[in-house]
Amino acid sequence: MELKEIILKYALQNAVKFNGKANPGAIIGKLLKDNDDLKTRIKELSKEIQKTVKDVNKLSVDEQKEKLKEIAPEMLEKKKIEKKELPELKNAVMGKVVTRIPPEPSKYNHIGHALSFLLNYLYAKKYKGKSVLRFEDTNPTASKQEYVDAMKKDVLEYLNINPDKTVFVSDDMPKFYKLAEDLIKRSEAYVCFCDREKMQDLRHKGLPCECRNNSAEKNLEEWKKMLSRKYNEGKCVLRLKIDLESDNHVMRDPVIFRIIYAEHYRQKEKYCVWPMYDFENAVEEEFCGITHILRSSEFGNMRIELQDYIKGLFGFKKQEVIQYGRFNVVGAITQGREIRQLIEDKKVIGWDDPRLVTLRALKRRGIVPEMFYDLVLKVGLSKTPTNIDWTVISSINRKILDQNSDRYFFIHDPKEITIKNAPNLDIEIKLHPEHEERGTRNLKTNENFYISEKDFKELKEGELYRLMHAFNFKKQKNQFVFDSKELEKYKQNGKKIMHWLPKDEKLVRVEVLMPNAKIVKGIAEPSVKNIKINDVVQFERFGFCKLDSIEKDKLVFWFTHE
Ligand SMILES: [Zn+2]
Repeated sequence: MELKEIILKYALQNAVKFNGKANPGAIIGKLLKDNDDLKTRIKELSKEIQKTVKDVNKLSVDEQKEKLKEIAPEMLEKKKIEKKELPELKNAVMGKVVTRIPPEPSKYNHIGHALSFLLNYLYAKKYKGKSVLRFEDTNPTASKQEYVDAMKKDVLEYLNINPDKTVFVSDDMPKFYKLAEDLIKRSEAYVCFCDREKMQDLRHKGLPCECRNNSAEKNLEEWKKMLSRKYNEGKCVLRLKIDLESDNHVMRDPVIFRIIYAEHYRQKEKYCVWPMYDFENAVEEEFCGITHILRSSEFGNMRIELQDYIKGLFGFKKQEVIQYGRFNVVGAITQGREIRQLIEDKKVIGWDDPRLVTLRALKRRGIVPEMFYDLVLKVGLSKTPTNIDWTVISSINRKILDQNSDRYFFIHDPKEITIKNAPNLDIEIKLHPEHEERGTRNLKTNENFYISEKDFKELKEGELYRLMHAFNFKKQKNQFVFDSKELEKYKQNGKKIMHWLPKDEKLVRVEVLMPNAKIVKGIAEPSVKNIKINDVVQFERFGFCKLDSIEKDKLVFWFTHE
């Protein structure tokens, strides 16, 4: 095989793999690895590769694929059929595993939360067990119905998670109170009236406050006063009596109940004494019959010690705890508080702003649910933190969309050109280059066309160009002239292949909201009218876009990714 052809194969393969942009460095490495005999010709190789990459990068990904299929079908990456599997869990018995999905309804969830929920959900599925959706809503100032609804819409509906049971922790308040009373009677807990500063100091020094020695009777009396609204917020708390000298400061008589008078979204004014997270959490694992807990390692062993201690106080079973490295969402604001402020300041359009990685934003942009499933299998139970950014999300999503999205022509900043002697053609173009069953679309041509301003500026005198799926033309004496129809001729010495539109009154106005929230305006072929709301399509040489709304005189898309 001629060197040129070998290089072309590798360049096309590299380009197809990296979204249409081949990289000379990567190609030379792979080529030399596979072809030992070429090592003496590096200089020559490098020059030829540069040239080939330039040509290859002019083609659209679909054309690159087509060409590669033609000259070296064995180098087209096989569709991955084998799915990765989640690693086995310790002490997991088929049919007996119960996991939990424990959101606090105090925020809109983002991709990091989704992955954690999915892990727990998928493990229940793997072992044909059960998953419990548990709203940890025992902080009345944070929990809101709005977020319960968002959880259902953004996580359950979007990601197709169907838990076997749904629990609202605040419904268990009477049970919590019973446990607290039991602890007080056993002198395992006491009501403490000391202020925060004083306690901080004493706990730091490992010294008890005077409340610690009160009798169980006295504590029970005070506890009942707490419950019957005799004390103001912050006046007193219920503490566990553990060990003030523990190396683990979390174990130095932690607060387990405090008074909050804010109205609860679900329980209204029924309760004013609320459990702290670690108490609530430790107890709920028992109430829900959880066997395995998958949580991020940022949770920390110090708190696990406390939760285990609490379970021990009641003789509750301990769960298998599996910790994985946290998911870092890179380059996006994930703090609910910050996002809320941005919304109030009108700096983002809402929780679904395309600059955010909330589940609402990802859904609206066209990230498909399968992306999350693939991603969670990929990162699995990695012990090191996983960085998730747009390149990770879009590369997985692209693979899925590429197979399912129809292609269309859309041109932003269109420039009108006339191509002399252009034939009147009725061109039938496949909606998807590999899936004939998806059907076709038609474009009728005359001598007048639109191409993008950017392509127009790059047209050079005397060179051969091609309108994608149509014909070749040349620039001659500052005019454009029809040359020929054959793709082969273009492949030999063509400069660039471009998407286009015929000048036609049926063209459709299109706007695309970009990830930076800017709007790109342009025109698209008439058949875009067949696209349904929420469909993701690929605009050739532009990127994947999801149809968001149909307005009287235009279609509005959201840009998914390239
Ligand atoms: Zn005290």
